[in-house]
Amino acid sequence: MKATVMHGPGDVRIENVPDATMMEPTDALVVVTRAAICGSDLWPYRGYGEFGETGNRMGHEFIGIVEAVGAEVRTLKPGDLVAAPFAISDGTCVFCREGLHTSCVHGAWWGGTTQDGGQGEAVRVPYADGTLFPLPVGRDDALMPSLLTLTDVMATGHHAAVTARVGPGKIAAVVGDGAVGLCAVIAAKRLGAEQIILMGRQPDRLALGRAFGATDVVTARGDEAVEQVRQLTGGHGAHAVLECVGSGLSMRTALNVARPGGAIGRVGVPIAQDQPRLRVRRPMRNPSRMKVVVVQVRHQAIVQLIRPQPDHAPPAQVRDA
Ligand SMILES: [Zn+2]
Repeated sequence: MKATVMHGPGDVRIENVPDATMMEPTDALVVVTRAAICGSDLWPYRGYGEFGETGNRMGHEFIGIVEAVGAEVRTLKPGDLVAAPFAISDGTCVFCREGLHTSCVHGAWWGGTTQDGGQGEAVRVPYADGTLFPLPVGRDDALMPSLLTLTDVMATGHHAAVTARVGPGKIAAVVGDGAVGLCAVIAAKRLGAEQIILMGRQPDRLALGRAFGATDVVTARGDEAVEQVRQLTGGHGAHAVLECVGSGLSMRTALNVARPGGAIGRVGVPIAQDQPRLRVRRPMRNPSRMKVVVVQVRHQAIVQLIRPQPDHAPPAQVRDA
């Protein structure tokens, strides 16, 4: 079958690879009908990442038709249309039951050197019952482009909003105007935020953000951006900060625009080496998204710890540990 393989920075090829085949009774075989490119695919494309000898299979956002299921698969049958989220999970372990599917004890990531990727003709899906979500529509439904966003980008923006405790009447600040940032704006509006400050620099994206519900836009960066958010929030900062970039600068900005008692939902893949140190003590089993979940929890505690001031005092600047 054909699949997308990245061999190095800027080197993406469509190649013939071994056909996807089922290996375990909990597997399903899915023929891919739609797939997307993630912002996180761009990091290795730009040179941040390691590559296997025969390259890395690509794609972790896909929709497809179930071709076959293993003997132990209970909830799916051939012919079902399914969406695959960006992580493999069994759906039954202690973390899956807590809604932390990216921390699944049997979890894995699509593509790379060990799994099929969504940017291919077919995919072997481990733990199919836990991993896949049946879609109650036809394969060419008009909603398909929107449904494809549920495999990562919209779900990630929503997760940022939930983790940052966006709710009715709250002030939300979204750091980053990429696809996840724009979905985070949609999510914040859905969850009832009264004021949504979108921080970014691309005019066309910011215009989309306003259409999606952003009430204010901040195009400055660094200290100037922090100051502008304070001015927009009566000097206090945002209740909910949705960090959707992953750079050290964006994380520092997120910390500095949070008000006392505020929470940060961090979903930007932390790729850069200049991250603020947050004393995350718990070992992380997996990079990137795993880190996201654990760090989010820590951030909530940290933001409250470092912000003991009453609401009327200006927030202190956060410095790297
Ligand atoms: Zn699990």
